[in-house]
Amino acid sequence: MKTFIFDPIESSALRYAMDRLDVVAWSDKEIEDYSKAEAVIVRTFKMTKEVIDKMPNLKIIAKHGVGVDNIDLDYANSKGIRVTNTPQANMHSVSELVIGLALNSARKISLSQKLLDKGISKNSPVELAGFELQEKTIGLIGLGRIGTLVGHKLKAAFNMNVLVYDPYASEMQCSEEGFIKQDCLDDVLKESDIVSISVPLTIDTENLIAARELSIMKKNAILINTSRGKIINEQDLYHALRNGEIFGAALDVFAEEPISKDHPLLTCDNFIGTPHNGANTVDSLIRMGTGAVDEIVRLLNHEGASSRIS
Ligand code: NAD
Repeated sequence: MKTFIFDPIESSALRYAMDRLDVVAWSDKEIEDYSKAEAVIVRTFKMTKEVIDKMPNLKIIAKHGVGVDNIDLDYANSKGIRVTNTPQANMHSVSELVIGLALNSARKISLSQKLLDKGISKNSPVELAGFELQEKTIGLIGLGRIGTLVGHKLKAAFNMNVLVYDPYASEMQCSEEGFIKQDCLDDVLKESDIVSISVPLTIDTENLIAARELSIMKKNAILINTSRGKIINEQDLYHALRNGEIFGAALDVFAEEPISKDHPLLTCDNFIGTPHNGANTVDSLIRMGTGAVDEIVRLLNHEGASSRIS
């Protein structure tokens, strides 16, 4: 099956694709003419209506990753094009990044490095005082694959109390995980020492955290977002960090990516940024690449998708 791979994928996953499919890779000259594509693998490449219209033979869009907001799902659906993703492939990588960001923010690890680079006159400076995670409260916004893992890992490592805001998760599901469901987002924001967001970007979640929500968080709380940038109002977050309304924030995702080096958030000492790096581990890249290929092979073999979006 003629498969266009629009974004770079891990080298062993590319070999895996080439062994099974007729691949046109991102660096090939042929990629300029979309018309022969029967299958595509995309990471961030935008599959808009206009792009889909350039591919009259397209049968499948295989997303390398989870979030499918770069794909016009309704239009793909209307054309009978199968859309798949690789939801299990990166959940451990992203959840581990959340934990890294929580520890980094709470213990000011990146800020410590910055101060060392400038030169220090004494150890343990007062401005580097952090806080422990042990027995504190984590608020999970979204109890899907990543949120659930974050909750389990923080509970196992630091005996953290886990609160959940997810209107689609039942009380029983939360209690089976050992977590506490809250019906109101505000209650999670008010009670948590760390708030971690793991929800898709939808009309309900866009701008979910803005000035009002930041103002009700604890003064010593940390906000972490590894989902999608537009879920947080970045300007409001900047003001909250500058005014000391919260202890810190760590974002892996931004409204505009890649983030500009002049972004105001980067001037805040209580801010940590990573460049959409959540799934960027060799382990996860191999699983996402081979997983996307497997979905195309399944279609080729007239099998159902293992993870079908539309
Ligand atoms: P998932 O689908 O397993 O879980 C999402 C959860 O969000 C679900 O439980 C759902 O009920 C909940 N939800 C939906 N709307 C909500 C709302 N309004 N309020 C509260 N909860 C709501 O997804 P996942 O695998 O856990 O991934 C979460 C998001 O992380 C993805 O949508 C993707 O955008 C992002 N992601 C980022 C990276 C990265 O590299 N930073 C990698 C993978 C995924």
